[in-house]
Amino acid sequence: MTIGVWVLGNQLWHNQAALASCEGRDASVLFIEAQTFAEARPYHKQKLVLVWSAMRHFADELKDAGWAVTYAIANDTETTLHNWLKVEGITELRLMDATDHPFTAWLQELNLPCKLVILDNNLFLWPAEDFNAWADKRKGLLMESFYREGRQRFDLLMTGDQPMGGQWNFDKDNRKPPKGKLNTPDPHWFEPDVTTQAVIDRVEKLEISTFGEATPFRWAVTREQALQVLDGFIAERLQTFGPYQDAMVTGEDTMWHALLSPYLNLGLLHPLEVVERAEAALAEHDLPLNSVEGFIRQVMGWREYMRGLYLHFDADYGDRNWFDHRQPLPEFFWTGKVEMNCLHQVIAQISRMGYAHHIQRLMILSNFSLIAGFTPQEVKDWFHAVFIDAYDWVMQTNVIGMGLFADGGLLASKPYASSANYVNKMSDYCKGCRYNPKQRTGEDACPFNFFYWDFLHRHRDKLRAQGRMSFILKNLDRMDSEELEVIHQQAQDWHKAHP
Ligand code: FAD
Ligand code: SF4
Repeated sequence: MTIGVWVLGNQLWHNQAALASCEGRDASVLFIEAQTFAEARPYHKQKLVLVWSAMRHFADELKDAGWAVTYAIANDTETTLHNWLKVEGITELRLMDATDHPFTAWLQELNLPCKLVILDNNLFLWPAEDFNAWADKRKGLLMESFYREGRQRFDLLMTGDQPMGGQWNFDKDNRKPPKGKLNTPDPHWFEPDVTTQAVIDRVEKLEISTFGEATPFRWAVTREQALQVLDGFIAERLQTFGPYQDAMVTGEDTMWHALLSPYLNLGLLHPLEVVERAEAALAEHDLPLNSVEGFIRQVMGWREYMRGLYLHFDADYGDRNWFDHRQPLPEFFWTGKVEMNCLHQVIAQISRMGYAHHIQRLMILSNFSLIAGFTPQEVKDWFHAVFIDAYDWVMQTNVIGMGLFADGGLLASKPYASSANYVNKMSDYCKGCRYNPKQRTGEDACPFNFFYWDFLHRHRDKLRAQGRMSFILKNLDRMDSEELEVIHQQAQDWHKAHP
């Protein structure tokens, strides 16, 4: 039997299941850096640079460790795979599960000349089977109960069988608005090496549709560098991560966020080492529990939950459109040219670096897309195109489920919809904006306001069934029908002016 291992671009870990299954490194290893991947949908230029540079570095590491590696820079994935199987005489192809429905469907269609063995993906904390067992035994799939089970399962932040500090969740301590001068730490960046520069040159020359700027490119591209980012986060950022988790400030692209999702999603870091480092730091650096717990909940709770649900739901989950929203995504999402300062700032930031932090993604980009009624699938494709850490598994549940409530509440207990009030409280964007965050109608009215009330009005009946919306719907009931008509007209006019 001649074994071949195909390592995908987001499986760059020495102990990933397919490599780990080959004792004695007695297998040929294939990487395919394919243009067909880049052509399938537009990507941020820095995403292409990151994935391809990290693949090249990892392939070199495997070679140095004694593996027989083929690194193919190719136009077409399928032909390259078939040729390699033939040349190497592979009789069994091993692959770690991609956690990606479209890729899995494509793979099943291939007429391979050898046996195909798919191994469970071990780059997550919960095996898919265990997540399904958890989900199958309950009616509601609340993240909070999944998270608590995870804390016990991995014995993290526990005192015996009780949560450390007497509480599972310190969220209420983690919503500080940004007031006064904040001394945010500089992110841990790297200068491109020769390998990364060669990939930047390749990406700049590609004649395909992309998003954003390729340079300055400063992301980590090896495990060693990613570990430095993790060390830097623990030493300089985790202390204040909690309180300002939801705050947004002009010119402060990263605040105290971890900047770890690109590396976790590529396999350069494993989630278990990340949460264990954070827990250890509690005692080592005397860090506040609300920050450490808040961070562990993101990685061990939200990240695992989103991936578990992606595999648990049917593959057509991404097609859902519960509100039947059909407005096309306006052109300014691609250019950033819009008078709404919050959207302008966040889109410009993403164009520069492929990154926005969670509240920018949730309460600016997807909140606005929800209340303005953009087609969920167009919004999902946009998110996939512009973020450096976007993959199908993380896109569907975050955008369709959490951001747009297009699944009708399978994972969120109410839509994350808000008016300008939230943006004004949690950011400084409104100060530099031509719109007035306090106004609902009229020339200076903030679009977040008229879209918010129009959204509630348009979906009043559907939203009434969501218990947690009843308070706000009572306010809506108190508004007179004339004002609601003006609001509706203003929303329609805005759409016409922003094709
Ligand atoms: P931090 O704020 O420092 O959080 C720490 C880590 O927690 C992250 O690195 C990430 O691994 C994990 N995490 C936290 N929340 C989530 C979540 N909801 N889903 C998955 N992981 C989570 N995350 C992606 O990795 N890729 C995406 O394409 C992506 N798209 C998103 C789209 C929307 C609409 C929303 C609401 C969230 C999205 N997220 C996505 C989740 C989250 O916003 C990012 O993981 C986070 O902003 C990454 O930055 P960070 O590493 O600085 O995170
Ligand atoms: Fe955004 Fe409205 Fe504030 Fe302007 S006023 S920054 S559009 S929330």
